[in-house]
Amino acid sequence: MTDNSYKTYREEDLIPLSALQHFVYCRRQCALIHIEQVWTENLFTAEGRIMHEKADSNKSESRRDIRIEYSVPLRSLRFGLIGKADVVEFHRQPDGSWLPFPVEYKRGKPKMDDCDKVQLCAQAICLEEMLNVEIPRGALFYGKTRRREDVVFDKRLRIQTQETARKVHELIESGMTPRAEFSRKCKQCSLYDLCMPRVSKKVSNYLLKAVEG
Ligand code: SF4
Repeated sequence: MTDNSYKTYREEDLIPLSALQHFVYCRRQCALIHIEQVWTENLFTAEGRIMHEKADSNKSESRRDIRIEYSVPLRSLRFGLIGKADVVEFHRQPDGSWLPFPVEYKRGKPKMDDCDKVQLCAQAICLEEMLNVEIPRGALFYGKTRRREDVVFDKRLRIQTQETARKVHELIESGMTPRAEFSRKCKQCSLYDLCMPRVSKKVSNYLLKAVEG
């Protein structure tokens, strides 16, 4: 299924899969982390890290119709992505082949936007390129609800994921951090104290007025 007639990215230009999730959540957050290399650990990120470390501490498991691999390295030269999947299940198909099914662990509960789905779809896109298969679905597991939510990689989500990857490359290449836009998301943001979204907005408005005279 792989179409080889596309431009590919160089190894040194690959961006972390997590950047797509950060970008959909907030472009400024993405720029602060991936351009300005700012990171801060708070309760939310610590819980998330511990969940990922638990997933990382396992190696692999095997049952009759399912094999489970943990902490699987991923890469797409087509979309310029690199990272790791917490878990990839391989489901045995009627013809005896094994179909990959990525599972991403998240602290908290399902979000209002598609940021987690885009990150998961990007993992599937990497696996498809690496294994030359088509992956129809995966799942997100949320620590707060202890529920696993199936995600279908339909055309809309695939286009959104590919567009997001393209825009993150553009953002990182530009080296420009967007201005803060205060929203409900800011209260859950691990970079709130560094970003100061209310103050940044007031300062920007003040400077704009001063320039406009
Ligand atoms: S505090 Fe708000 S504007 Fe600032 S990085 Fe976080 S989500 Fe974005």
